[in-house]
Amino acid sequence: MPSNDFVRTVSRSFRVLVIGGSYGGLAAALALIDLSHARVPRFTYDPEAKPPTYRIPIQITVVDKRDGYFHLIGSPKALACEKFASKAWTRFQDIPGLKSPDLSFIQGSVSSVDFKAKVAHIVDSETKSSRTESYDYLIAGSGLRRTFPTVPQSLRREEFLKEAREHMSDVKNARDGVVVVGGGAVGVEMAAELKILNPQQKVTLIHSRKRLLSSEPLPDDFADRVGSILRETGVEVVLGQRVIETRAVNTENETRVWNLTLSDGRQITTGHVLNAVSQTIPTSTYLSQEALNKEGYIKIHPSLQFSGDIPNAEHHWAVGDLTAWEGIKRCGGAMHMGHYAAMNIHEHMLAECTGQKPNYQNLSPFPSVMGLALGKKAVSYTPDEGTREGEDLMKSLFGTDMGHTICWNYMRLGEAC
Ligand SMILES: Cc1cc2nc3c(=O)[nH]c(=O)nc-3n(C[C@H](O)[C@H](O)[C@H](O)COP(=O)(O)OP(=O)(O)OC[C@H]3O[C@@H](n4cnc5c(N)ncnc54)[C@H](O)[C@@H]3O)c2cc1C
Repeated sequence: MPSNDFVRTVSRSFRVLVIGGSYGGLAAALALIDLSHARVPRFTYDPEAKPPTYRIPIQITVVDKRDGYFHLIGSPKALACEKFASKAWTRFQDIPGLKSPDLSFIQGSVSSVDFKAKVAHIVDSETKSSRTESYDYLIAGSGLRRTFPTVPQSLRREEFLKEAREHMSDVKNARDGVVVVGGGAVGVEMAAELKILNPQQKVTLIHSRKRLLSSEPLPDDFADRVGSILRETGVEVVLGQRVIETRAVNTENETRVWNLTLSDGRQITTGHVLNAVSQTIPTSTYLSQEALNKEGYIKIHPSLQFSGDIPNAEHHWAVGDLTAWEGIKRCGGAMHMGHYAAMNIHEHMLAECTGQKPNYQNLSPFPSVMGLALGKKAVSYTPDEGTREGEDLMKSLFGTDMGHTICWNYMRLGEAC
């Protein structure tokens, strides 16, 4: 990379606190490191983009409940395949791209934020004690709370590998098959993955509506293709039925099975039930109500700055699933927001140091786009291309590892920072 001899260093430094070390939070931290070193951010497509002319000393602290980066979109496979589980979770300290003197990590949970004092209270996972971190800029990227088996509940890699092994053994040893309840994006991926990895096991997917993916703003032919691929894979699909009762039954040899009663009175006996009904709750409980909408999502401007009536709003930014932003929530969107938040915070820092007016990049509305990994095939919908499916599409959208390498390389996690 050619050196920029005209780069000067500003006379003050900034502390940035990032809540959540996943797609949104890490993308923001890494793009901000690039910019602060007077480099074009790694996510910029424009070959004509000019690097900044100032270096800005920054110290970024990322707080996360987990001890590492978990490739969340691979969760249905990570919980079903031991080899993939090990790949899907990497401790922050083992990621080459995060080793930088400008970047440090705290494993802990943010419990409250004082906007006025610009201080966050954190419960440290190691010591269980409360500590405070003051900041000049805060980036909230802590996503949504999701239950098991949509995502693992472990906070440390070793515990996660144990949790995944137990889950796999429950599925493998289930007598009379496995039932997945809920035909949303998570349920359909989970059912396909379980069938591919356990072909001898009967896998049934039960969905309360007549159409799979009924809460997604996507056309019927997309949902129909998903249903056909599931059936081709060997998953039994039951539509338009609610599970109204789940009763444990002990059999003679002491193995437990479950008796499910469906809304039409049908009875299904199964060895294991997985609830994939999406109960996603924003993790924003550490923020005061003024910053949030009624559902608990952070109100933002298109620049990603908090738009609620709070003190120091221009020092508070949000990225990813936790934002009140229209459209299907996706990991690509979270990383894109991280990139934009970093550019805009950098603009704000420059303005503080040089007095120049910040020139913010504004986010465009997200289109209704979805890609699903269903065992060997992927199905996608975009407004331009409509519904597509196939094994080649699987390779281009997810590679061979549920998109893990694609995200890892996009954020350059394998390269020295
Ligand atoms: C099973 C599944 C499959 C998916 N498949 C796809 C797909 O194929 N394609 C796609 O684009 N999207 C997919 N998604 C959606 C995608 O995963 C999300 O949009 C993405 O993870 C959002 O990223 P984020 O950085 O905003 O939040 P998250 O990835 O949710 O990360 C939030 C982070 O914050 C941490 N955290 C939470 N609360 C606190 C706190 N109080 N203090 C400190 N840290 C905290 C968490 O530990 C976590 O690491 C899928 C989601 C699921 C659940």
